[in-house]
Amino acid sequence: MTTRSETRTALDHLLTEIEHRNPAQPEFHQAAHEVLETLAPVLAARPEYAEPGLVERLVEPERQVIFRVPWQDDQGRVHVNRGFRVEFNSALGPYKGGLRFHPSVNLGVIKFLGFEQIFKNALTGLGIGGGKGGSDFDPHGRSDAEVMRFCQSFMTELHRHIGEHTDVPAGDIGVGGREIGYLFGQYRRITNRWEAGVLTGKGAGWGGSLIRPEATGYGNVLFAAAMLRERGEDLEGQTALVSGSGNVAIYTIEKLTALGANPVTCSDSSGYVVDEKGIDLDLLKQIKEVERGRVDAYAERRGSSARFVPGGSVWEVPADLALPSATQNELDENAAATLVRNGVKAVSEGANMPTTPEAVHLLQKAGVAFGPGKAANAGGVAVSALEMAQNHARTSWTAARVEEELTHIMNDIHTTCHETAERYDAPGDYVTGANIAGFERVADAMLAQGVI
Ligand code: GLU
Repeated sequence: MTTRSETRTALDHLLTEIEHRNPAQPEFHQAAHEVLETLAPVLAARPEYAEPGLVERLVEPERQVIFRVPWQDDQGRVHVNRGFRVEFNSALGPYKGGLRFHPSVNLGVIKFLGFEQIFKNALTGLGIGGGKGGSDFDPHGRSDAEVMRFCQSFMTELHRHIGEHTDVPAGDIGVGGREIGYLFGQYRRITNRWEAGVLTGKGAGWGGSLIRPEATGYGNVLFAAAMLRERGEDLEGQTALVSGSGNVAIYTIEKLTALGANPVTCSDSSGYVVDEKGIDLDLLKQIKEVERGRVDAYAERRGSSARFVPGGSVWEVPADLALPSATQNELDENAAATLVRNGVKAVSEGANMPTTPEAVHLLQKAGVAFGPGKAANAGGVAVSALEMAQNHARTSWTAARVEEELTHIMNDIHTTCHETAERYDAPGDYVTGANIAGFERVADAMLAQGVI
């Protein structure tokens, strides 16, 4: 019988090895630490999981593709970006996960996202493996024609690696409906196949699912509501901080408002907006989705209830709830201390790994309900899997049906994480609950399928 401390020592050795074998990938190291550090109890309790090679296989992607993406801007100048697709784990289904177009993208970032995606997708219970991809291309300030040429060049290489039964990309930061349209068009042209299930996040008129654009934000609010319910509270009347102003932030704000909370902030890399009357969603959508502008324009046009704070962080605004919905490591220890000082009750991650490990620790120690992204933001990929199901059946469901399914899935994920945490002596610790529950599902499938 292995003890928890022996298991922990073995995991520490593995973590050191991961750092040596994957140099200069701090985000991937962080994501691996975050998961492996919570696995000791389950590895000690279930000897089959401690089998040599299982966790070692889990931390090594099944396949990693890196490719050149050359494209021409509107002046005819040639640019060369780098494209990535990391196909991390397909024990539960085809690789599934988004594409991120952002200058910060590199192999380590894509690996951290792909690793997280394995457990997130397992938690949905929907038969999807984990993968992620993207490019260091910056769509900001680029014309539609430039974005189209970039997407076409990206897909000209990517198409040979993906397919409805192989690997199904979707959106992430910098990749929304417009980009998915151009990517799908190029895939269809190259392959001469109407293969609807090869990408998700498509337009509703050509194979997309209703509620997919809303799903990540809506799902995170539903997860936050479930955490509050567990403590005998609800969203009604709670002031909420939302960071970011992309797809996740926008639909987080929409759902918070619909359920009676008051979301008072949003942000982008230039700074943040605080609006004591609650963010006006029509105005924010107009600025971000139609004009593709910056959030300072929101404050200018909104009137006296809103102000723009250049450079600052939304976490300095007093509130009951915080829903980080921008990007990784955007909520650090100092920000967490400020939130706790201001009486925050729950933090629920709409983005992937937005809270630093030190900040997570501080929040949990202070008794704040903390929903980790791989559980709280799983609604997006869950509805992607529902989009695949609709594509396969050549049908489309009503918005009400998709939203009902999404609500079930998020409540199930909450219950699974909550119960798993209790089972492993960590009541109320959703990080442990999510990691162990996701791990169990993937590990069972990997053991059943042999050493591959
Ligand atoms: N990029 C989203 C995520 O982080 C969605 C992925 C998908 O729909 O495949 O989960």
